[in-house]
Amino acid sequence: MTMAATLTRGGRSWTPDYLVAIDPELCIGCGRCFKVCGRDVMTLQGLTEDGDIVPLDDDDDEIEKRVMAVHDPDACIGCGACARVCPTSCQTHAAA
Ligand code: SF4
Ligand code: SF4
Repeated sequence: MTMAATLTRGGRSWTPDYLVAIDPELCIGCGRCFKVCGRDVMTLQGLTEDGDIVPLDDDDDEIEKRVMAVHDPDACIGCGACARVCPTSCQTHAAA
């Protein structure tokens, strides 16, 4: 799907920069992106030794660390705020 540039309130051209993925190997689960997002796009999850992303309430001993995961990408408005606060540059964004 190709998404055309949209407009700001003042009618200026604006191309959304949507969050499409977070690299679980690089993410440190700091939660900064979660705090600045007003669209409920991400959720904190667990990364297992095998590289699987699992819910934190799983009580899973194999969880190695907490990572942020994209759980509702369709809710993203592409504001780019999460990318600006990420200290590890582990997010992938795209125009559409
Ligand atoms: S780009 Fe904006 S709306 Fe999308 S996940 Fe990041 S902070 Fe949330
Ligand atoms: S800001 Fe970056 S490192 Fe921190 S939880 Fe979000 S994606 Fe992970």
